[in-house]
Amino acid sequence: MIRFLIIIVLILLIVFLVRALTPRSEYTLCERCDGRGYWLATRGERDKCDACGGSGKVLR
Ligand SMILES: [Zn+2]
Repeated sequence: MIRFLIIIVLILLIVFLVRALTPRSEYTLCERCDGRGYWLATRGERDKCDACGGSGKVLR
């Protein structure tokens, strides 16, 4: 029983550490183009998104 508790505590610790160590991205998906980096124009052409410059990501 104690071994079981130790395993649970270890798992929680690992999850906590991974979350703490994961670098938070400075970039977020572009809201205007949903991260695609382009707009669909009326005739099906792809227009480069001005907000993110075609990368689909913008600085926070
Ligand atoms: Zn965009």
